Amino acid sequence: MTDTQFQYIDGEWRDGDSDDELTIRDPAAPDDPIVSFTGASRGQAADAVAAAEAASGTWAATTPDERDAVMYAVADRIDDHHAELAETLTREEGKPLSSSRAEVGRAAELFRFFASFARTAAGETLPSSDPETVTYTVREPLGVVALVTPWNFPIATPTWKLAAAVATGNTVVFKPSSETPMIARALVEHLEAAGLPAGVVNLVVGSGSTVGDEILTDDRIDGVSFTGSTDVGRHIAETVAGRGIPTQTEMGGKNPQVVLPDADIQKAADAAAAGAFGLTGQACTATSRLIVHEEVLAELTDAVVARAEDMQTGPGMDDPDMGPAVSAAQDETNFRYIEVAEDEGATRLTGGGRPDGRGDDAGYFVEPTVFTDVTSDMRIAQEEVFGPVLSILSVSNFEEAVRVANDVEYGLSASLFTSDMASARRFTDEIDAGVVKINGTTTGSQIQMPFGGMKASSSETQKELGHRAYEFYTHKKAVYRTDP
Ligand code: NAP
Ligand code: MG
Repeated sequence: MTDTQFQYIDGEWRDGDSDDELTIRDPAAPDDPIVSFTGASRGQAADAVAAAEAASGTWAATTPDERDAVMYAVADRIDDHHAELAETLTREEGKPLSSSRAEVGRAAELFRFFASFARTAAGETLPSSDPETVTYTVREPLGVVALVTPWNFPIATPTWKLAAAVATGNTVVFKPSSETPMIARALVEHLEAAGLPAGVVNLVVGSGSTVGDEILTDDRIDGVSFTGSTDVGRHIAETVAGRGIPTQTEMGGKNPQVVLPDADIQKAADAAAAGAFGLTGQACTATSRLIVHEEVLAELTDAVVARAEDMQTGPGMDDPDMGPAVSAAQDETNFRYIEVAEDEGATRLTGGGRPDGRGDDAGYFVEPTVFTDVTSDMRIAQEEVFGPVLSILSVSNFEEAVRVANDVEYGLSASLFTSDMASARRFTDEIDAGVVKINGTTTGSQIQMPFGGMKASSSETQKELGHRAYEFYTHKKAVYRTDP
């Protein structure tokens, strides 16, 4: 493999052969490109689908122990190359090195967790109404699955899809974000080195609107798992709808943290700052709305602003509290929304500019930013920014807090800070969110817990992660077997 070979099709590393040039930049120093290469063409995307289809029957027929052996070997390789993978991730995505280390460690854990699906993705035997007939279900892989992923968790998200797919006997066409192909390529290199046969996982790097579109409109694809923005997810769902294949789209969020007067205010402030500014706000579960009871508004606001102002921002390689935004486009979005919030009449309490007097050409940095006097009808309270911008909304009781929290099209993650368990239970019942945290950050999840949103955050077809994530990647057949 050479520096410019990012396409892995049928076990061979290739250069792209489209007209599309991709340049990967360090978002902390975008003026010196890390690498430039040619993206895949539509023809190469079709070749990748063909390779996955050709490998499908043989891979599906492997034994569980053959499949889980490869998964464990990949996990060991990720652990052995932990430092190098974390650096690759930070260089192209920009997150602090310790966040990348945690994510790479999680990728190894995910391979080990999902390896067990090779043995445990089970059917069941059911009581039969006919004594001559045995009734049971069997699970089979879907066949060829397309995995389309974003840049913000560029090794963990592909891994939780890919490991579940491969462990259950599927073959894969993997289309990572064009922002983060280096870590995607490194992951696939470790799959290859661990002994995954040619064609089982194919990597095509190129833009979603060409390469992604080619894969998703190919009739040989038997399932689609997508994570990314709501607009693209809806477009993809429409693209494949006519074919009726299993489709999973996990999308954006506008996640609220609600704080009641009986909460531990310092802990609530810690959580809000971590959830809003950690990962530069670039988590689908990031806290973007802090919905606060008026009685504790002043105290909590002061505490959150103090934490925002304490955050060290800098290049991910220096392991600061907060790195830059991923790209020029995201940088522009951050500053555009800061302007939108001000135009709408929100009050900026801190942030809003470049940290440390940095110039516009010195990396995609933005200060942690807090707005107050935000009302639910404002765009800053409704639209996903995907940057470190927190809006504070004041409410006067629990009912209003839940009403405001639910007053967005999204429904991914939501948190409540309280010391009252009755409020905790009511919140759990009434909040429209796929992930509910009581006295915790909206961000963060455990791999054995199912993950996914509601409303515009998800197709709500099947949760990812968790011990039943295999359900998405398998068909269940009902068998009636009567002896001759
Ligand atoms: P994005 O712009 O929606 O892109 C996601 C993926 O879709 C990329 O690989 C992209 O390729 C591809 N794509 C774009 N247009 C396509 C098309 N027409 N056909 C097929 N594929 C297409 O999202 P992003 O900017 O990478 O990531 C940020 C978003 O992801 C945020 O909205 C965030 O909330 C969401 N997210 C959700 C979750 C979750 O689990 N709910 C987790 C993480 C992130 P290219 O970009 O290479 O063109
Ligand atoms: Mg980049």
